[in-house]
Amino acid sequence: MAHAHTLGFPRIGAHRELKFALESFWRGESSEAALQETGRALRARHWAMQADAGMDFVTAGDFAWYDQVLNTLALLGAIPSRFKFDPKRLSLTEYSTLARGSREHFAMEMTKWFDTNYHYLVPEWTADVGFDGGVDWLFDEIAEARNTGHRVKPVLVGPLTLLYLGKIKSGLTHKLDLLPRVVAGYQRVLQRLQEAGVEWVQIDEPILALELDAAWRDAFQPTYAALAKATPHLLLATYFDEVREHAALLRELPVAGVHLDLVRGAGQLGEVIADWPQERVLSAGIVDGRNIWRADLDAALAKVQTLHGVLGDRLWIAPSCSLLHVPVDLAHENKLDDELKGWLAFAAQKLDEIVALKRAVNGDADAVNAAFAASRAAVAARKSSPRIHNALVQKRLAKVADADAQRASGFSERIAKQQARWKLPLFPTTTIGSFPQTAEIRQARAAYKRGDIGHLDYLNKMRDEVRLAVERQEELGLDVLVHGEPERNDMVEYFGEQLWGYGFTVNGWVQSYGSRCVKPPFIYGDVYRPEPMTTGWSTFAQSLTEKPMKGMLTGPVTMLQWSFVRDDQPRDTTALQIALALRDEVCDLEKAGIGMIQIDEPAFREGLPLKARNWPHYLDWAVRAFKISAAGVGDETQIHTHMCYSEFNDILPWIAAMDADVITIETSRSDMELLDGFGEFAYPNDIGPGVYDIHSPRVPRVAEMERLLQKARGVIPDARLWVNPDCGLKTRGWPETSEALANMVLAARLLRQAV
Ligand code: GLN
Ligand code: ZN
Repeated sequence: MAHAHTLGFPRIGAHRELKFALESFWRGESSEAALQETGRALRARHWAMQADAGMDFVTAGDFAWYDQVLNTLALLGAIPSRFKFDPKRLSLTEYSTLARGSREHFAMEMTKWFDTNYHYLVPEWTADVGFDGGVDWLFDEIAEARNTGHRVKPVLVGPLTLLYLGKIKSGLTHKLDLLPRVVAGYQRVLQRLQEAGVEWVQIDEPILALELDAAWRDAFQPTYAALAKATPHLLLATYFDEVREHAALLRELPVAGVHLDLVRGAGQLGEVIADWPQERVLSAGIVDGRNIWRADLDAALAKVQTLHGVLGDRLWIAPSCSLLHVPVDLAHENKLDDELKGWLAFAAQKLDEIVALKRAVNGDADAVNAAFAASRAAVAARKSSPRIHNALVQKRLAKVADADAQRASGFSERIAKQQARWKLPLFPTTTIGSFPQTAEIRQARAAYKRGDIGHLDYLNKMRDEVRLAVERQEELGLDVLVHGEPERNDMVEYFGEQLWGYGFTVNGWVQSYGSRCVKPPFIYGDVYRPEPMTTGWSTFAQSLTEKPMKGMLTGPVTMLQWSFVRDDQPRDTTALQIALALRDEVCDLEKAGIGMIQIDEPAFREGLPLKARNWPHYLDWAVRAFKISAAGVGDETQIHTHMCYSEFNDILPWIAAMDADVITIETSRSDMELLDGFGEFAYPNDIGPGVYDIHSPRVPRVAEMERLLQKARGVIPDARLWVNPDCGLKTRGWPETSEALANMVLAARLLRQAV
């Protein structure tokens, strides 16, 4: 009999119960006991969902008060030594301090978990970090699951992935120097799990989806040989991409099972299964854990059936990765129309799909008929729905030519015309787009959503905000203005709501980090812009000032990257459709008299594939999509772009190839070091390196910004250099924003005088 299991389940709760309980605990408004109770209730509910669906195991160890990597550190006792906490007695308050910082301690660093939008806390490797055992939470949770009668399979972040994802802070030359101690720590944990009677432990090694160098590859065999001694059966889980290049390594590892992602790594199956070790379990990740579409059960069954023929009982059926990356339960979507809803599956529905596949391979035909019929109908409906296929978009797509991605003239010709048009001073000052989203703005939006105020009232309120923002920018003496984006709740949702092909959920929350969740829209159909989206706001704002007003759009790659995307066409096709819609918007803005248009691409770097060998393909289509969105305008129209949260140097040629007239980037926190590669020859166009960090309310002094600008002048010629903050100001308040911008304008003026 084939088995069914999940690699993990979302912990946040269908109604974000964990978020609210955590935040209340952090504010000191509720007790630790209350938080513990919420955690217990959520775990119990999620296990019941898994068991009721018909899973053969429930998964433990996927629950965490903040993050699963931090939980693994707490389990091993490997918490950063600088906090000086007793690892065996780590309290929830101390655990929270690790994640969020306190007056005495800055928080652990956080970064993206592979290519997902989930952020983990980065382990801090020092010579004195311990692995001598930590808290008993995992063991308590296992007991908890058992007491409710569940057969439980704990999951751990694997030792090599844990080491790899950490950062050396001091006293070590290579992370692998810690390996013997890490292995000893895991041995102790596994031994205890065995004593507790656990049969299977899932051990996640997603770094196997990366291009590993020899030192890391060679570490697998001895590590797992050492772990194999006293341990329950180990299921080694890989995901997020294929692991074909490590097939030989995997074959030799002394583990009882391996999980493969057969969604992202669909092509690896034949090769890997060709000489699958006798006795070894294969967990087939067949249901997409990274997206929200209902599975095509017939197609999935065909694959699993073949596997079942080879493996029999040794086949397990699973989602491609943990379900952490999808929303919890479609049942709570009461605003989606039935057609769209019929195409989707969230975590709860994916459990059912996995079990339906298991029952089908196990020959239980009757039990699955209904599930398969419903899947078949949904797949057929989605294939033929007029909401998905738009002939206008298809026709246009077919006609896109390389010339559409080229501006009429090269940068030097364009910039000369643009300078003649605006006569901006040296070191022009500007901002990135948004101004403070004040309580008033948020209240007005909420009142409008509730229906308490009408559309016109709402528009008038937002116009007042634009007027205010323009007045303030005039007073501050900025050279290039923005309207401030008060009308936008979110930079993707705002545009998605105005485009055909985008859908929205009311409750489709996915954990981003700690208590923070995002609610990505989903792209289900050909993207089409029925009418202009921003021209009204931009022309209104321009009418209030003689200074140039930047139009403000979200770029095609970011629109794609921060949404769930179609799985029935390649990502680049969807990006191109979005690019065409944006191109029309850009042209409409130009026609309406807006002469500077910024197309934000903060998620540009995020889209990079896990394996560097796949980077060029991505970068080629991503650059092309951006250029197509931008290139419909004349030479006198100035195209800006903006990027943040990232390093740029390794993809600089592609950023240059985007050929925006001006790029603004986040650089202040790196003390302008991120700018290093951007010399005149590597990056010929105008550039505005951020001179102050907008993540903090701290007001930078004039001299600080002057110093950063002087540093930037060492890399960028004066004629190409702009002056601006790192990113938008929507999370700031007006008092610090006005002060900081006044200082920034002054810094630019002083610089002009000094030249
Ligand atoms: N224009 C957007 C803003 O200013 C850009 C946001 C971003 O880069 N994340 O808010
Ligand atoms: Zn930004």
